[in-house]
Amino acid sequence: MTKSVSRSPFIAIIGAGPAGLMAAERLSALSYRVAIYDRMPMPGRKFLMAGRGGLNLTHTEPLDHFLAHYGEAREFITRGVIH
Ligand SMILES: Cc1cc2nc3c(=O)[nH]c(=O)nc-3n(C[C@H](O)[C@H](O)[C@H](O)COP(=O)(O)OP(=O)(O)OC[C@H]3O[C@@H](n4cnc5c(N)ncnc54)[C@H](O)[C@@H]3O)c2cc1C
Repeated sequence: MTKSVSRSPFIAIIGAGPAGLMAAERLSALSYRVAIYDRMPMPGRKFLMAGRGGLNLTHTEPLDHFLAHYGEAREFITRGVIH
């Protein structure tokens, strides 16, 4: 159930990394008012740095178990992982 924007609590998220950005996206989809704060001048800086190396996906579990984490996106991820 979504909340009325005017009466929903205001939520401050400290840290604009992937976790903070994901939390903000989920909360705003539920109509919470959200603001993200970061000590760095731009959001997602560490994650963007990771992207410089090609953003490899690594995991130690068997491929089938790993791919099962992606639900509906499994096919999309499978194409990227295997090819
Ligand atoms: C060189 C490098 C390569 C990587 N390569 C990959 C990869 O190929 N694949 C992969 O999946 N992952 C990779 N990672 C890991 C990936 O970047 C992290 O797992 C991911 O960024 C973690 O997200 P997070 O939101 O938990 O934390 P972070 O990305 O660390 O975000 C936390 C945020 O909080 C902010 N913050 C912290 N303290 C405060 C404070 N007191 N006040 C305000 N703001 C604050 C920080 O500035 C930061 O923006 C790599 C990381 C690095 C450094």
